[in-house]
Amino acid sequence: MDKYSSKELMEIEHKYGAHNYHPLEVVISRAKGVWVWDPEGKRYLDCLAAYSAVNQGHCHPKIIKALKDQADILTLTSRAFYNDKWPIFAEKLAKLTGKDMILPMNTGAEAVETAIKVMRKWGYEKKGVRKNKAEIIVMENNFHGRTSTIVGFSTDPVANTNYGPFAPGFKIVPFNNVKAVEKAVCPDTVGIMVEPIQGEAGVVVPDDGYLRGLREICDKNNMLLTFDEIQTGLCRTGKLFAFMHEGVEPDVIIMGKALGGGVFPVSGIAANRDIMDVFTPGTHGSTFGGNPLACACAIAALDVLIDENLAYNAETLGAYFRKQLIDMNSEKIEIIRGKGLLNAVVLKKEAGKARKYTTALKEKGILAKETHDWIIRFAPPLVIKREELDWAIERIREVFA
Ligand SMILES: *Cc1c(COP(=O)(O)O)cnc(C)c1O
Repeated sequence: MDKYSSKELMEIEHKYGAHNYHPLEVVISRAKGVWVWDPEGKRYLDCLAAYSAVNQGHCHPKIIKALKDQADILTLTSRAFYNDKWPIFAEKLAKLTGKDMILPMNTGAEAVETAIKVMRKWGYEKKGVRKNKAEIIVMENNFHGRTSTIVGFSTDPVANTNYGPFAPGFKIVPFNNVKAVEKAVCPDTVGIMVEPIQGEAGVVVPDDGYLRGLREICDKNNMLLTFDEIQTGLCRTGKLFAFMHEGVEPDVIIMGKALGGGVFPVSGIAANRDIMDVFTPGTHGSTFGGNPLACACAIAALDVLIDENLAYNAETLGAYFRKQLIDMNSEKIEIIRGKGLLNAVVLKKEAGKARKYTTALKEKGILAKETHDWIIRFAPPLVIKREELDWAIERIREVFA
């Protein structure tokens, strides 16, 4: 095959690929752990980790081995038959989440759709809400994916302009406001769906007690509490799931991203039997959901998170990272926030656009991505070492000086 330069590849993509993204001007052609390389051989430290889908680091040898081994044996059966990997993955994930059962899908948005379906079906069949009147409470500035139903309850005009008409049945309230949720509850409310920390909104961490307040509303009104842990889950914030910081137990957990170890799209929901059993044969499904190749990768991906104690690494290095950023005392920075290794730098208005800084960081060998025009997220793979983080901090300091 011909070898293309970064410039050529970007031109080809621009010509033939739809323009639904605005990537930083860097082409990645190889990666290992926290490092990635462009075709010219320049090395960068990945501080995005594919939006937290490569928590285990790029091309983790155990996950790649699982992929290769399984690829030679069996890749896809469909759920028309049993296979020998899905049961093992289901048991492992159920035990880790503390829930009875798992429903497997592929992408995050599909898992969110699955959660919406289970909440509604539970509402009609177990709670007894009026036919086709089920309501789910969601938050302002949410990000739950890109299907037409999901963008229909996004409050970001960039995500939903000209994609209507949208599905009804969602009530949007301000994030981090228990009272607003309480006021939105009606007899047809089946539950609340929320990110424990809003990732795409710019790593917005709610006040202590917020998730507990939501739990109390759900208990009082017979509603399901659903946490979208697609970005915050699987050790990213310093615990296996972000809700564990508050010790609040959700009814439905939505997972994706790092569940496939950055190798394969794997997503799913976890819930107890009394909720999950509203799904009966034929009422929901996915051709690729639970496929043996995906399950083999996911089993290895979960093993790596636990065996390498990545929650602890995220917690300790995350706290260290935030302290280093704060100690920079940069006049350009409004606030630094986050949990574990999910962090964001919010720029002051007068500091200019975030893109200017992510471009400068890229020149110094650090890949981070802006979210909105004034926020930069720093979320490296959780396998990062203290020395590598120090290397990054040195360069971040230069850019914000
Ligand atoms: C990324 C993300 C999704 C969507 O996942 P896809 O795999 O892109 O469909 C949903 N919710 C949250 C919180 C996310 O970060």
